[in-house]
Amino acid sequence: MEEFDLGIIGAGPAGYTAALHGAGTGKKVVLFEKNEIGGVCLNKGCIPTKAILHVSEVYNRIKNCSDYGISVSDVDFDYSVVLERKNKIIEKLRKGIELALKNSKVTVVKSEAEILSEHEILSDNTVYSCKKIICAGGSSPKIIKGLEFDDEFLLSSDDILNLEKLPKSVLIAGSGAIGLEWARIMSNFGVETVLIELAPHLLPAADIEVSKRVERILKSQNIKYYTNTSIQKIEGKTVTLSNNEVLNPEIVLVAAGRTPCIPDKKFDEVSYIGDMAGEIQLAHYAIKQAVETVDFIPFNKNLTPFVIYGTPEIAWAGKREQDLEAGTYQKSLTLISSLGKAHCDNETEGFIKILVQNNKIIGAHIVSSEASSILQQLLIAMQFGIGPDKLKEVCFPHPTYSEGIFEGLYKLK
Ligand SMILES: Cc1cc2nc3c(=O)[nH]c(=O)nc-3n(C[C@H](O)[C@H](O)[C@H](O)COP(=O)(O)OP(=O)(O)OC[C@H]3O[C@@H](n4cnc5c(N)ncnc54)[C@H](O)[C@@H]3O)c2cc1C
Repeated sequence: MEEFDLGIIGAGPAGYTAALHGAGTGKKVVLFEKNEIGGVCLNKGCIPTKAILHVSEVYNRIKNCSDYGISVSDVDFDYSVVLERKNKIIEKLRKGIELALKNSKVTVVKSEAEILSEHEILSDNTVYSCKKIICAGGSSPKIIKGLEFDDEFLLSSDDILNLEKLPKSVLIAGSGAIGLEWARIMSNFGVETVLIELAPHLLPAADIEVSKRVERILKSQNIKYYTNTSIQKIEGKTVTLSNNEVLNPEIVLVAAGRTPCIPDKKFDEVSYIGDMAGEIQLAHYAIKQAVETVDFIPFNKNLTPFVIYGTPEIAWAGKREQDLEAGTYQKSLTLISSLGKAHCDNETEGFIKILVQNNKIIGAHIVSSEASSILQQLLIAMQFGIGPDKLKEVCFPHPTYSEGIFEGLYKLK
């Protein structure tokens, strides 16, 4: 029987991070993967969607560049090249992870694995003895009763990546990160797009002001949406919504969350991390959980950042305004249109909202170009308790979107 210090099931962000960090501290590590190294994040999630989204944004920008004095005609795209580029990016990044695992002397077993006991893993008819086992098996698209995926009309976020050409029209059910990003992709490429959301506002996990701004932005981008709405009936390709609207989309993307892939039997001494843990299903959360499990470096889960990509980006962390009691906090809201850089870039949509309690920044909610980078600056302040007064001492470069933070600090009331 082969003996290891650490046995890890699943080579997504949680699994490969745990493997690399384990090996980094001198442990003998074995990593099992039944599909491709990189997991959902690299192969079906974060990276492929962002690669396609980027091209859709470039295409949209080129089509609408007359404001810059640039004239172009016959702008078109070849979706097969978009997919080819996406695949090349995935391959390149996958090779990078594989090389890092090899250099770290992690034993990679490309096969399904099963936990037999607290210290034994079975894979490919071999039993591996492991002092410690980490299970990072990920999650899969949630199946909704009546909206079961059929590979043709009712598609999951995995299926939509397999389309060789874009549809003429799409109905997207669910306005979380996946639904909203695909709505942006489809609409940028000129696909007639309708987004529906069961909750009273789009992006229900966000601060209410962010949700309302996103709704305004979608209207201005001619993306049709309905809130408080679900799919009531499907007959052939005719979809009746709960608001009695009848649609005939070429495809439906069901983006209603993800189900953790929980094994039949759980073991007390095994650590279950990443999407499988059923907490926050994001790659960076999975990575931090891996570091926490292997290196024993805890992280503040309440400060997990959320980002929705596209134009403009949407990013937040910490408390939302709707969760705070009136009169107990201070707030500033700085419009992106007040920033010089935004005008230079033609990216004036959005705001930076900062929430403060007892001289501590407790929430940051941003709709803006570069929102993810702006958020990171506020996150560092939140993490280390750097209050607004201290943050004011920082010199912010001009012209940047970050100046919106500086302006916001002086507006707090
Ligand atoms: C469309 C989409 C877009 C996304 N965009 C973002 C984003 O922009 N930012 C972000 O942070 N997150 C994003 N996510 C979420 C992100 O992909 C996940 O949070 C992340 O992949 C979770 O990592 P993980 O390691 O827990 O699981 P996974 O990445 O799911 O990896 C689990 C791995 O375990 C393997 N496995 C399972 N069971 C076994 C077994 N028995 N034996 C061997 N191998 C097994 C699977 O094959 C898989 O490769 C997105 C997800 C989707 C679907």
